[in-house]
Amino acid sequence: MSAITDLGVKAIRDGFRNGDFSAREVADAFNAAVAAARGLNAFVVETPELALAAAERADEARASGNLKPLSGVPLGIKDLFATKGVQTTASSRILEGFTPTYDSTVSGNLLAAGAGMLGKLNMDEFAMGSSNETSGFGPVISPWRRSDGGNAPLTPGGSSGGSAAAVAARIAPGVTGTDTGGSIRQPAAFVGITGIKPTYGRCSRYGMVAFASSLDQAGPMARDVRDCAIMLEAMAGFDPKDSTSLDLPVPQWEANLSADIRGKRIGIPREYRIEGVPEEIDRVWEQGIAWMRDAGAEIVEVSLPHTRYALPTYYIIAPAEASSNLARYDGVRYGRRKMPGQGGLTEMYEATRAAGFGAEVKRRIMIGTYVLSAGFYDAYFNQAQKVRALIARDFERVWEECDLLLTPTAPSAAFALGEKSNDPIAMYLNDVFAVPASLAGLPAMSVPAGLDKQGLPLGLQIIGRALDEQGVLDAGLAFEQRAGFTARAEAWW
Ligand code: GLN
Repeated sequence: MSAITDLGVKAIRDGFRNGDFSAREVADAFNAAVAAARGLNAFVVETPELALAAAERADEARASGNLKPLSGVPLGIKDLFATKGVQTTASSRILEGFTPTYDSTVSGNLLAAGAGMLGKLNMDEFAMGSSNETSGFGPVISPWRRSDGGNAPLTPGGSSGGSAAAVAARIAPGVTGTDTGGSIRQPAAFVGITGIKPTYGRCSRYGMVAFASSLDQAGPMARDVRDCAIMLEAMAGFDPKDSTSLDLPVPQWEANLSADIRGKRIGIPREYRIEGVPEEIDRVWEQGIAWMRDAGAEIVEVSLPHTRYALPTYYIIAPAEASSNLARYDGVRYGRRKMPGQGGLTEMYEATRAAGFGAEVKRRIMIGTYVLSAGFYDAYFNQAQKVRALIARDFERVWEECDLLLTPTAPSAAFALGEKSNDPIAMYLNDVFAVPASLAGLPAMSVPAGLDKQGLPLGLQIIGRALDEQGVLDAGLAFEQRAGFTARAEAWW
């Protein structure tokens, strides 16, 4: 049985089709693995019965020759996606007890493609964070440990920390993540897996709990590039229910996947060489450049001059949009309500929001409200919008010189729980390489590149032109073949 949990999305899909095992056996194996790994706190809700029901349908479909693209494959769903009949809280106490009557488009697409659901994955509250420590349901613990014997529990990154930990611990073959400013890529890098944020608008945001609507994108996290291509194909697509969804056909990313990147120009942006980044990150980056050259790509040094403004710009725009989006949690329409003994509606709102939101969410609401306030709107929010346009223009110009960009995903390997949780600025700095592509709405993927001195994974990021997920995936495949990353966390949980 345990061998089944060693398989990824493609291997399970194909093995099931070939009759190597039944969908029921797959569901049983992963349900058992999820239950045995509760020490990681990766899931906030387990749904073994749903995984089994989907498996039964898959076994029947196989018998009657009606297989769907993901028949037989069980997946984990980040708790940001509304799931019909299954509690959805965005890992916030304010949504405790909220059970949607509908599915988000992305998770619904996966289920309609035949996938089963293992459960809802823990995350930073409302996806605000880089370490999963802001979750209202406790932090996720990374399956990885430092090899120096320190044994401090590490963060799997965030906000898709449960998603990352589940794939790395082999308790889900693939999962959904969401990325507003790096939340697919940074956790993927921290745990040695692959994750892609597609072009803004590729995946519908309908039914995805909103954080910063102009930035939020769903994407897959899985063991390798091909598994991501398979999942993204099932997740993406036009949705009239989301006005920012792109009305374009979904390309056949899997069928067209090719590691032949000869002649592609890969840009190395000089502004991503920043001070204070561990020398090992530079070493891995240099190694990655050498692999891309070896694959036949042409390496060009390029410049994205406004890069250093991306982080402050993001931390104005994202909280501004969040403060507006989170106004709906008032204790009336969703989740928990706190009713003080006396007092009216205002007191009820205040008590509900004071009790229901965690500290980081409150901080973002205050920052966002401030930068949108009448006296400061021009100085902060409007200015940030202008700088965002300049950052997007940097990328448009750079595509005249290159086809893809290769950068580090994060400025460090995974850090220990508690190490940055009292210093919001240090936490925000972890997003420095991730947010520019988010502000520009571009597809970007993290691929595992190697291990640092303490035996922890490091990832590199491939950024592409808008809508060129294929280019990103192809380069990722070429990279993956050369990196040969097979390291995995030793089970201690
Ligand atoms: N870490 C970033 C933040 O805290 C990004 C989060 C995300 O992408 N959801 O906002």
